[in-house]
Amino acid sequence: MLDLILSNARLMGTDELTDIGVREGAFAPPEMEAREVIDLEGGLVTPALVEPHIHLDAVLTVGEPRWNLSGSLFEGIAIWSERVQDLTIKDVKRRVRKVLRWQLANGVQHVRSHVDVCDPELRAVRALLELREEIGQQMTLQLVAFPQQGIQSFDGGEELMKKAVGLGVDVVGAIPHFELTREYGERSVKFAFALAAEHGLQVDIHCDETDDDHSRFSEVMAAETIRLGLEGRVTASHTTAMGSYNNAYAYRLINNLRRAHLNMVTNPLDNSVLQGRFDSHPIRRGMTRVKELLDAGVNVCIGHDSVMDPWYPLGYGDPLQAAFVLAHYGHMSGHRELKTLFEMITYNPARALGIEAYGLEPGQPADLVCFAAPTEMDAIRLVAPRRLVLRGGHVVARTEPARTTVVWDGKEEAVDFLR
Ligand SMILES: [Zn+2]
Repeated sequence: MLDLILSNARLMGTDELTDIGVREGAFAPPEMEAREVIDLEGGLVTPALVEPHIHLDAVLTVGEPRWNLSGSLFEGIAIWSERVQDLTIKDVKRRVRKVLRWQLANGVQHVRSHVDVCDPELRAVRALLELREEIGQQMTLQLVAFPQQGIQSFDGGEELMKKAVGLGVDVVGAIPHFELTREYGERSVKFAFALAAEHGLQVDIHCDETDDDHSRFSEVMAAETIRLGLEGRVTASHTTAMGSYNNAYAYRLINNLRRAHLNMVTNPLDNSVLQGRFDSHPIRRGMTRVKELLDAGVNVCIGHDSVMDPWYPLGYGDPLQAAFVLAHYGHMSGHRELKTLFEMITYNPARALGIEAYGLEPGQPADLVCFAAPTEMDAIRLVAPRRLVLRGGHVVARTEPARTTVVWDGKEEAVDFLR
């Protein structure tokens, strides 16, 4: 006897409808009987969504202490350095608790958050570490020590990074393109790798997030990964400069990224508005080479980056919205590419974060998302609501799809936006 059967599910990547069994919190082969049956009515089903890149410590601070009027990255960094002054543990926790609920409602169950360590008291790090405990098994949260103002260029930067590692973060970050010089940038990458290797941690670096084609720290990351044998445990986030590199250099770099098994995270929401700010027309897109990386066999994931903070005033923590933007901005509207976008918010980031128990096969934890849409294409097109989110076999979020009607020829009729 099963605990639950989800009937008429359309698993991502397949066309037929199937039933999903759940026993003792794990997926099980479907049998005839279960204590409870939920009919998914042909809805698309994926494993739990994975958010590989967000800055939870900054969420919901938009407009504090002032609005970003230019919308630029640099005005955003200046505003954040003012907001950080009156950060408290209570303030961080209040905002993060709210956004974690938004993420869970969107089907996200694994989150990697960068946390600013450029604060002698490490208030944001302490708040997030407490929250990581507080949420228990409801979601999994990985924390990255992220030096927003640099490691070499910020007073006491190296010590703060070591302190954050001592407090218990999971991943070591850096921001080499923001350091004062190319040499400082290279040194910061090597410092982050050494610190991670010493403590057995993963690496996730904000790398080359600029349109400057001279920003070339991804190659240093690939070299350090190979030198220290950290293949598969390292992520390069943003890497927007790659969109401006010459093709000969990009070809060599992508080969080396593949050789190093680097994970890449592209953040289409933030970077579509933050990059290209120094261009007159034509204005560059300011994104990494997503399709070339995927074609080369590199693991590429989609990140959300910001939710209502000084850099990006929009968003509600939904990876599908970021995928929708990448479909346009990354020229990924081809039929197979729309399915690839789903891989980039599920299996690919699960691999980048090193989540082992993952997927829809029998024996895996019964964590899944059912969309109020029948296919990947429809789910992206409609940024479809999550009608059901299951964690460990229990329903942890539900959305009642909206009911829309029109009056046509004097009669009210339903419209569902499906063909
Ligand atoms: Zn970021």
